[in-house]
Amino acid sequence: MRVVSDISLLPYNTFGIDAKAKLFIEYYSLDELRQVLKEHKGERILHIGQGSNLLFTQDFDGVILHSGMARARFLDDETVEAQNGLRLDDLIAQLTDMQYCGMEKLSLIPGEVGASAVQNVGAYGCEAKDVIVRVNVLDTETLDQRMMTNEECRFGYRDSIFKHELKGKCIVTSVVYHVSKGDATKTREEIIETRNGKLPKVGEVGSAGSFFMNPFVPEQQANELLQLYPDMPHFQSPQGVKIPAAWLIEQCGWKGKTHGGAQVWPKQPLVLVNANHASATEIMELAKQISDSVYDRFNIRINPEVNYI
Ligand SMILES: Cc1cc2nc3c(=O)[nH]c(=O)nc-3n(C[C@H](O)[C@H](O)[C@H](O)COP(=O)(O)OP(=O)(O)OC[C@H]3O[C@@H](n4cnc5c(N)ncnc54)[C@H](O)[C@@H]3O)c2cc1C
Repeated sequence: MRVVSDISLLPYNTFGIDAKAKLFIEYYSLDELRQVLKEHKGERILHIGQGSNLLFTQDFDGVILHSGMARARFLDDETVEAQNGLRLDDLIAQLTDMQYCGMEKLSLIPGEVGASAVQNVGAYGCEAKDVIVRVNVLDTETLDQRMMTNEECRFGYRDSIFKHELKGKCIVTSVVYHVSKGDATKTREEIIETRNGKLPKVGEVGSAGSFFMNPFVPEQQANELLQLYPDMPHFQSPQGVKIPAAWLIEQCGWKGKTHGGAQVWPKQPLVLVNANHASATEIMELAKQISDSVYDRFNIRINPEVNYI
């Protein structure tokens, strides 16, 4: 196990925020994880992955936990179990090389396997929930391991039970994904090219990807808006009519706008970036200004996808 006190979290969040943590612990086995949880019972604990969906709004007066467990193994021809600390894209790259498909649409999404289940990551019409068979978790109270089926995880749009009832109560230790034999090389390459063309590259420009979630509105409100904005993109779904937040933000004139060191990414207005040593406050202020202006113009509240810590 690796234990560091008073650590800068700069290398541990893709937004590039220089917050500090009282303690940072990286564990390499489930026994070590149990030991850490026992020793730090009652303290404030945050389990992070790559920190690609976090905004540290202040120093963290507690224990930041990170998994150094990063292996994957086939359980049978159609299921692969990956440990929480493995980068999701490394897993997909390996599977693609081995001529397995099913997860390629999630290519290049930053972050680790553990968070892929917590966040139910998604892109290009595929969500983690479509390929997750089950999720193994460790109860932070009893330290027992438990297997959760896909249904029990209650996946929704960028959502799961791990963001609600089980928030802070369990740690995802591994995820079992369904895969099939097939060549996904071309799709993976195309997705990587598209993503590289429009999204900021991790390590080059600070961001957490899409800052806001796409809103869902009732049918009647969507119809009223369509009278005013006939070109408004919209998609029917069981939760209501989905309207792309990027379109709403762009209509309000935010593309490329800055606030202090924070900026609305010119190629994709759903993404806020740390363009020039932005503070978390500047990023939060910019997000609020955007959300308020969308609300004033469309009467739609857009909410952050990013986890404020
Ligand atoms: C450039 C860029 C592009 C992106 N594109 C996409 C995209 O296309 N689609 C998409 O869905 N997301 C996208 N994201 C967001 C991000 O990649 C995902 O949310 C990802 O799942 C975060 O993974 P992480 O390991 O960095 O988790 P973190 O950001 O470190 O953590 C996210 C949350 O999960 C919790 N968590 C982490 N690990 C565990 C664990 N083992 N057990 C319990 N809880 C845990 C954390 O406490 C936190 O609440 C993008 C981000 C960036 C920077």
